[in-house]
Amino acid sequence: MEETKEQYDQLVEKLLALSVAYYDNDAPLVSDFEYDRMNNELKRLEAAHPDWVRPDSPTQHVGGHVSEAFAPVEHEVPLESLADVFSFEEVAGFVHRMDGAVSEAHDYVTEPKIDGLSVAVEYRDGIFYRGATRGNGQVGEDVTENLRTIRSLPKTLQNAPQRLIVRGEVYMSHDTFRDINARREIEGQPLLANPRNAAAGSLRQQDAKICAQRRLDIILFNIQLAEGVTYQSHYETLEAMSAMGFPVVPHTLCQTPEDCTRTIEAIGEGRETYPYDIDGAVVKLNDLAQREALGSTAKYPRWAVAYKYPPEKKPSRVVDIIVQVGRTGVLTPKAVIEPIRLAGTTVTNATLHNQDFIENLGVNVGDTVLVQKAGEIIPEVLEVTEKRSEAAFRLPELCPVCGAPVARDPDGAAMRCTGAECPAQRLRNIVHFASKEAMDIDGLGPAVAEALDKQGLLHTPAELYYLDAQSVATADRMGTKSAENLIANIQASKTQGLARLLCAFGIRQVGAKAAKVLARHFATLDDLMAATAEELTVIDDVGPVTAGYLTEWFASPQSQHQIELLRQAGVSFDSAEEIADTRFAGKTFVLTGTLERFTRSEAEAVIERYGGKTSGSVSKKTAYVLAGENPGSKLTKAQELGIEILTEEQFQALINP
Ligand code: NAD
Repeated sequence: MEETKEQYDQLVEKLLALSVAYYDNDAPLVSDFEYDRMNNELKRLEAAHPDWVRPDSPTQHVGGHVSEAFAPVEHEVPLESLADVFSFEEVAGFVHRMDGAVSEAHDYVTEPKIDGLSVAVEYRDGIFYRGATRGNGQVGEDVTENLRTIRSLPKTLQNAPQRLIVRGEVYMSHDTFRDINARREIEGQPLLANPRNAAAGSLRQQDAKICAQRRLDIILFNIQLAEGVTYQSHYETLEAMSAMGFPVVPHTLCQTPEDCTRTIEAIGEGRETYPYDIDGAVVKLNDLAQREALGSTAKYPRWAVAYKYPPEKKPSRVVDIIVQVGRTGVLTPKAVIEPIRLAGTTVTNATLHNQDFIENLGVNVGDTVLVQKAGEIIPEVLEVTEKRSEAAFRLPELCPVCGAPVARDPDGAAMRCTGAECPAQRLRNIVHFASKEAMDIDGLGPAVAEALDKQGLLHTPAELYYLDAQSVATADRMGTKSAENLIANIQASKTQGLARLLCAFGIRQVGAKAAKVLARHFATLDDLMAATAEELTVIDDVGPVTAGYLTEWFASPQSQHQIELLRQAGVSFDSAEEIADTRFAGKTFVLTGTLERFTRSEAEAVIERYGGKTSGSVSKKTAYVLAGENPGSKLTKAQELGIEILTEEQFQALINP
């Protein structure tokens, strides 16, 4: 098909937009593999139509901008990108090109390519002075304070040149990434997508304290500038950096194309042994004078190439499909497969994501499937190549951990366990129960909850009220004093009242706001539990979906067990304590006619909760008459006395403005 300039322009625009998401927002919209595929297409079009090439094309400049949130730092030596290659033939082609261009003897250094964020770090008199991101290659962002929090970055050097600028990659180790995500899951925060974006997002935080919590690391791979010192080779600079105290990229000296490709293969095979993600291997000409002579294009040096590992795919057979329940209650199906070697590891299972994914593939036990592992990402099933059974696998209707019913998210593909006592979710449920907007139990954050859990002291939120200081003191990092304080705080939370308690239950769609609305309507938890779904939907802000979640939750045996434990512990089910609001203080209401949204006693309870009073007869002292259907003589009397008359809607607006 004829390719047009218009198609070329569209591709440039698309790649530019993807680059903004990736470099500037640290939130990529497509996988690197997909991006590279489009970028290769762009390179092909530009090679075929050199007159089309736009100066703003991603092939013509280093990706990334400089955010105004940081002070700019001009790079004395530009931070370039690298030319990508995707096959060993291209690596050999690069080596042959170098052989042709350099007449003297020469060799190469091959290194893993770390998938993190590039930075330049400056030292003066051997002391850490400042550091900046790559930015657009010429100007970067000053992230000195954030870099200072990185423990693996030395702050003083041994025998360093007077002024030194080194280049390296900031990364988040696999262990840290897993730890942080496990913690975020318990806290109900969105998970970090992958270590690369986590590192980039953390280093570009405004608050260095947040960056410090992310426990980033760094590895150095180049000397940009070393005042007063001359090095002959790249290899020598790496050794010199090591001697100064830097963690330095692993490096192998290579002579021939075969040496280079063998090293690349070895790095690829050993990918799992590195603590960081690697997205390729870099082959660099070793001699620094030869490099200087070759120079750079607008975007990358001519003396190096980056080989990108293809995502590996292999067939295997599904021997079982297991369903795991995460800390948020989401059911995740996994295919257990016959073991295969992929990207340097033995893979025995692959994610099937959710029911929709399974149905799209039509996969079931016994089928032969193609499994892919791209980078360090969890292996996934790509397609079914041979089917054994007709039907696709179906996720269970009851939670495999606790047996409670499973419900599908109304706005997504996830299936979730609804059990209030589900062991898979207990940590998260406990942390949520104690959180600020719920029961607000000071001192009961994720770390303490984990310590109590580890000690086997706590299985469900309600059990908090049955803890004693002596056993709490046996948990990790808990002294007698802190155990006593914690128990005092737990006991004090008993009087938080209905709104907070409702929020603490973690019923779907019942957050702090909805809980308050409900607590204003019902005097006690028992009144709320007695309401039908239809009665609940009458309340403003409570739709049929929320009403359904509420009634289902209260009907479940696990929830009822929790409620009974709370009741016996003396936790307040009353909404009175919650509302310190006295908007009706000194005001007397008279009710007449039939109300639709409230029973008489509910309306009276609401008025009293806000400090008001009700009376059976209208007088000059009456502040409001609340009139329902078929009002009686009280309405006429109120009209005569000029007293304000409220419809039910107006009354509700006074309660929930
Ligand atoms: P690059 O990341 O491919 O290569 C250059 C970088 O490699 C340098 O900045 C350097 O810091 C780093 N590096 C790591 N180890 C190194 C070593 N040992 N020696 C030298 N350098 C080393 O190039 P790029 O232009 O920064 O970005 C292109 C990459 O970004 C591609 O992988 C692409 O897939 C990805 N990208 C993805 C998206 C997306 O939407 N997913 C968008 C834009 C770019």
